Amino acid sequence: MNSDLSGLRGKRIWICSLGCRSNQYEAEALASAVTEAGARIVDSPECDGAILVSCTVTAGADRKCRQALRKVRRASPEALLAACGCWAQHISEGEARSLGISLLVGNRRKGELPALLAGALAEKNDSLQVYREDVSVSRKWDPLFLSKPLLHTRAFVKIQDGCNHFCTYCTIPASRGFPVSRDPEDTLREIRSIAASGCPEVVLTGIHIGLYGRYAPLSLGELLRRISAVEGIRRIRFGSIEPFALDDELLETLSSIPQFCPHLHLPLQSGSREILDRMHRGYTPEEYLALAGRVRSALGPDVHISTDLLVGFPGEDEAAFSDSLALARECAFGKIHVFPFSPREGTAAFSLPFPVPPDVLAERTHRALALGRELLEEYQRRWIGRTVPVLMEEGKGSCLSGLTPEYLRVSCRGKALPGEEHPVAISGIGTDCLKGRVVP
Ligand code: SF4
Repeated sequence: MNSDLSGLRGKRIWICSLGCRSNQYEAEALASAVTEAGARIVDSPECDGAILVSCTVTAGADRKCRQALRKVRRASPEALLAACGCWAQHISEGEARSLGISLLVGNRRKGELPALLAGALAEKNDSLQVYREDVSVSRKWDPLFLSKPLLHTRAFVKIQDGCNHFCTYCTIPASRGFPVSRDPEDTLREIRSIAASGCPEVVLTGIHIGLYGRYAPLSLGELLRRISAVEGIRRIRFGSIEPFALDDELLETLSSIPQFCPHLHLPLQSGSREILDRMHRGYTPEEYLALAGRVRSALGPDVHISTDLLVGFPGEDEAAFSDSLALARECAFGKIHVFPFSPREGTAAFSLPFPVPPDVLAERTHRALALGRELLEEYQRRWIGRTVPVLMEEGKGSCLSGLTPEYLRVSCRGKALPGEEHPVAISGIGTDCLKGRVVP
């Protein structure tokens, strides 16, 4: 592959990332690569080249991909458009041409994108070039490297890709392909570089990070132990981990690593035994509830357990939906991400009988969101009157914002710089955050 990056020198590049944290990592790593090649990342679509790190998880995500590309086309008619990732993996070449895409780069080939973009910019070649491969058989790791995160206080680090669990609603196994794990040495090299840049927190991401140890020379627990030994790393988190991948051994390891933050995102999806079965999730509501209890025993009663709820799966009746709400209460979740079900072609759930009518879907989504707000507030309330360590991210004057180890946003007043951790006395709840004052 041509690795001449000179075509990027001096170019304005706009990067748009949609979807999950793995995409965010990939977008940051691409930004890192093009910046090192002399390009300038711009925050508006007025640019010489644009990279869309695309998502296809729902029909809405597909729509957003098209909208983002049209937005660049309007703002910069001459810009060279590159689309990579999950949506780019499956769209037709006809659709790519109609949107003005010049580089269509599928999964497992994003590492080639900076050089491809440099070449196309240097040659002023805007005709469509396609770089995709069969991800169901590929065992290749997409070699991206984030040397310096854009956000200086928290960096996503991708350690795993792909999934073969095949939940019946999910398109990800088709677009991300067979599970692969990143080489541990490459991961540690990246984390050392991130820490050396002054960033103290890493968020380990992947499509199904619970599969890491099955396709890597060491277990996820051992990788965590090695990451915790990297100088300068003060906080470690998981982006998300599937409940069926969190066993007692891993929980014990998490509890033994002081830098591991007491927050776990454990996607529940439904609280109905029958619906979970039809989703092919691999656990019952009782097992999930027992797991939440074990998480609290291992990481302490204040651990933040957040989740995803998929509302309106085919066959979900009022009783099944009520089971989801009841289990969410019993689990005492903090943040709940609510996703209304949308059938995706190519998945087993696409042709399942008993679809939930749109008005019922909208009403249940509304109720799930309301419960989410209530539970989050309940969880936030327990912090009022306490003093918590906040890693500062940004601030204007004496108005600061940062995160607690439990992944709660705190807006506070006082003196502190981004990247510093300070005790903050929590006095109340604001919009989507806790409010407080830095303890001098
Ligand atoms: S575990 Fe299920 S929801 Fe998660 S990526 Fe795999 S198939 Fe999709």
